[in-house]
Amino acid sequence: MNLMDAMENSVRNTVILGTGCSGLTAAIYAARANLKPLVIEGHEPGGQLSLTTLVENFPGFPEGIQGPELIENMRRQATRFGTDFMAGHLVSADLAERPFKLDLGSGKTVTTRTLIIASGASARWLGLPNEHALIGRGVSSCATCDGAFFKNVPITVIGGGDSAMEEALFLTRFASKVTLIHRRDHFRASKIMLDRARKHEKIEFLVDTVVDDVLDVSKKEVTGLKLRNVKTGKTWELPTSAMFLGIGHEPNAKMFKGQLDMDEDGYLKTHDFVMTRVPGVFACGDVQDRRYRQAITAAGSGCAAAMEAEKFLEEHGR
Ligand code: NAP
Repeated sequence: MNLMDAMENSVRNTVILGTGCSGLTAAIYAARANLKPLVIEGHEPGGQLSLTTLVENFPGFPEGIQGPELIENMRRQATRFGTDFMAGHLVSADLAERPFKLDLGSGKTVTTRTLIIASGASARWLGLPNEHALIGRGVSSCATCDGAFFKNVPITVIGGGDSAMEEALFLTRFASKVTLIHRRDHFRASKIMLDRARKHEKIEFLVDTVVDDVLDVSKKEVTGLKLRNVKTGKTWELPTSAMFLGIGHEPNAKMFKGQLDMDEDGYLKTHDFVMTRVPGVFACGDVQDRRYRQAITAAGSGCAAAMEAEKFLEEHGR
């Protein structure tokens, strides 16, 4: 039997879904508690931090740290205490009885006494031809993370909801000008947020406008956007140094539909910080947090989930 088969066939104490900040923090705590956790990597290994550059607001790094490096450090720390990692992502789960059964597709299954869901929320992207190549080089889905890199330059925000308004308002601290681009002339944003953005002298609104592409991959930085007015068909290029997406996030929790409680947008509902309605199943990080979505808050709830898993195993037997 090889290592992979052994990992799959034995009943694990704790399986953690996700290798972002929350999942890896849960792994560090669970491993140090001798639970020998198994971490399933997920379809975006490293999570949101692996898509960003310099992280300046994670405590303990006065000069900042690169997002991928921070994640790699956490991974090494989890490995050092005996965490196993397995590539793959959850296709379906049976949480009706313990041990829980996890189907990872291609005939791979894992059973576990406790489950920590740290599968995150994926930022929505526009799907432009050059968008992906410029992520971390001016294309960003997180104003809090990357806004400070764009001081005294013009930047754009895409979206018409509260996230877009919040990002645009936040980015006025740095940018010389913020252009908010929305595909319609009606906004989902709350009136108060919309009014605040509309009144801000640095924010200009461009409505009925979509982005056809982002420039300039050959320069390895954002220099402008190709825009199109959806009513008139007019196309033009807008010079800008960054494009921030505020078009929402998708929580990665669909595989638990019908088994765990979710809000109207599919975020897992928890009580007492990380408890789901199924005893022994805990949720942490962005999959259950639509409000803060910060690396440090995700790490905090990952820690709590691991401590609760340990307590649960103490009470119910390993
Ligand atoms: P949202 O309300 O779903 O808004 C997403 C926006 O992005 C919409 O304006 C949508 O346009 C646009 N959009 C989506 N896909 C697009 C695409 N492919 N191309 C162009 N535009 C696209 O998401 P959210 O703003 O992240 O807010 C989510 C929830 O969190 C809301 O309940 C919100 O109130 C809450 N929230 C609250 C605060 C706060 O109170 N401070 C801050 C952030 C979020 P359409 O309108 O045309 O569909």
